[in-house]
Amino acid sequence: MSMDILLEVKALKKYFRVRGSLTKKVRAVDGVDFSVKRGETLGVVGESGCGKTTLGKLVLKLIEPTSGKIFFEGRDVTKARGKWLKEYWRNAQMVFQDPHTSLDPKMTIASILLEPVRFHKISVGDEEEFLVRQMELVGLGKEHLYRYPHELSGGQKQRVAILRAIITRPKFIVLDEPTSSLDVSVQAQILELLKELQRKFSLTYMFISHDISVVKYMSSKMAVMYLGKIVEIGPSDQLFEKPLHPYTKFLLASVPIPDPKTSRSRERMIIRGEPPSPINPPPGCRFHPRCPFATEQCRRQEPTLIEVEPERFVACWLFAKK
Ligand code: SF4
Repeated sequence: MSMDILLEVKALKKYFRVRGSLTKKVRAVDGVDFSVKRGETLGVVGESGCGKTTLGKLVLKLIEPTSGKIFFEGRDVTKARGKWLKEYWRNAQMVFQDPHTSLDPKMTIASILLEPVRFHKISVGDEEEFLVRQMELVGLGKEHLYRYPHELSGGQKQRVAILRAIITRPKFIVLDEPTSSLDVSVQAQILELLKELQRKFSLTYMFISHDISVVKYMSSKMAVMYLGKIVEIGPSDQLFEKPLHPYTKFLLASVPIPDPKTSRSRERMIIRGEPPSPINPPPGCRFHPRCPFATEQCRRQEPTLIEVEPERFVACWLFAKK
């Protein structure tokens, strides 16, 4: 498998204007850099409101960035319009958290699946035969084709949503909490299906979740977001075994250690309070009001991501070279 860079994001920002105010802005994504290699899964983890869903939508150009660049196969798609944008959307798709709202209740499953096929003018021969073959890929039968979304279970609906995303054979998919609206018993099946489809079609994923253990299971590389910024990024197994940023330690503290005899003991981190508002983030390190290690420097100066070990980046003054 070729491991060259498929997607690269540079200094990406998205500020939303606060309704009823001319000056206040929500800094949903506030200067984010990362890259994703072909065939890999980048996990993006953080509490709700940290900007991870906005980041996913920006990357797919479903919303326009305030500033920054997004390179897909070397081309800056922030400039994409018309035919080029259409081509990008054929190659880059999204699966949303809740299939109950992402599938049109007035359309049959067949019509939902044919919509992107017709939009991108993909020739498929006999449409019904094509759809039956596609349904097999996600473990659904012909009998589901002419049903409406409300006639399917939550897991079946998410299978349809996944199939709709891969039906144009994209290279890249953003998966935004794809299992969090499903029963626990169904979640594992959907994660397995996503891994199987990734292998079969050489897909590259960006997997967004608030659940760090699910992200670790799915991803080879993990980015931790806090208040619109990436505070730590690196190989998932290393980040899970030896988290560096205090916030990553806090996220991991809530994950049970499967076998205490064989796993390394994990430092317990208790963090106070809720995340501050992204409308008015704290000066210096945004995590400082909740961080037990905060110093005067943390309150004044913002740390940037620095490489502390090969491929491991962290934004924290504890790791800055003295
Ligand atoms: Fe804590 Fe300071 Fe590191 Fe921020 S920079 S995480 S406040 S130690």
